[in-house]
Amino acid sequence: MLIVTTVPALRSRRGELRRRGLRLALVPTMGGLHEGHLALVRRGRELADEVWASIFVNPTQFGPGEDFARYPRDFEHDRDLLADAGAALVFAPSVQEVYPKPSATVIDLPALAGGMCGAFRPGHFRGVALVVTKLLNMAQPDVAIFGAKDWQQAAVIRRLVADLHMPVAIDVAPTVREEDGLAMSSRNAYLSAEERRAATVLIRALRAAEAAVAAGERRGAVLEALLAGEVGIEGLARLQYVAAADPDTLAPVADGATRILLALAVFIGGTRLIDNLLVEVK
Ligand code: AMP
Repeated sequence: MLIVTTVPALRSRRGELRRRGLRLALVPTMGGLHEGHLALVRRGRELADEVWASIFVNPTQFGPGEDFARYPRDFEHDRDLLADAGAALVFAPSVQEVYPKPSATVIDLPALAGGMCGAFRPGHFRGVALVVTKLLNMAQPDVAIFGAKDWQQAAVIRRLVADLHMPVAIDVAPTVREEDGLAMSSRNAYLSAEERRAATVLIRALRAAEAAVAAGERRGAVLEALLAGEVGIEGLARLQYVAAADPDTLAPVADGATRILLALAVFIGGTRLIDNLLVEVK
């Protein structure tokens, strides 16, 4: 597996693939890798001839007081996991390589980024949109793969790519979970044993709301109240938001909707966790 840290080296390898007529998949990550990331790499191998992963903890998507400085960083470990999963190349640029100067360009999708996580992380999706655009322009993959775990992020990126006619397909892969249902996340490493047990409240709440939909409940406000109520039962949990939304526009779910995105963000101690389920109404 190749390790590349500069854009010119990446471009040169990209040119080689193009000359050989090979399709490229890109899996952008911030490292702290787990099975969820590796599933994206394996999916990339089904969709393309070669898979590249990027590891870049993007400073512009962290707010003041968030965990940029202490975000898990273990390059050697991540590199070995990616090699085992079949990635052909890891792009691990420095902050200087990605931001040689502060970006004068702002990419904002207020309609998609204003609610849910965006309401509590101002500027977060501007940082995500900027870095993803940079990475897509740097690597020029045929397909880029993202996880459904970060649903709002995937919705923002899909729309960004469509709005700007970017020549890349966006693929969204299912959320990979621990055996007890907790969505895998690099931030799970912050949890104490007691908090780790409490963290299952996210999936318990989502499944309770999913069951309510299956039993005929369609009112967004009722589903949101149900989600919040389930989280309230867990003493170590502090709710940030719940949402019952349209999965594409992220607007509050309309009466008669056939697809409902259930989503929430919860603090377990000092750790902020997010999760979601897409419920298809039969
Ligand atoms: P991150 O390193 O957290 O920025 O995540 C990199 C990519 O992995 C994003 O597209 C995430 O949505 C995806 N991802 C993170 N956790 C999971 C998971 N548990 N299952 C599937 N994809 C995931």
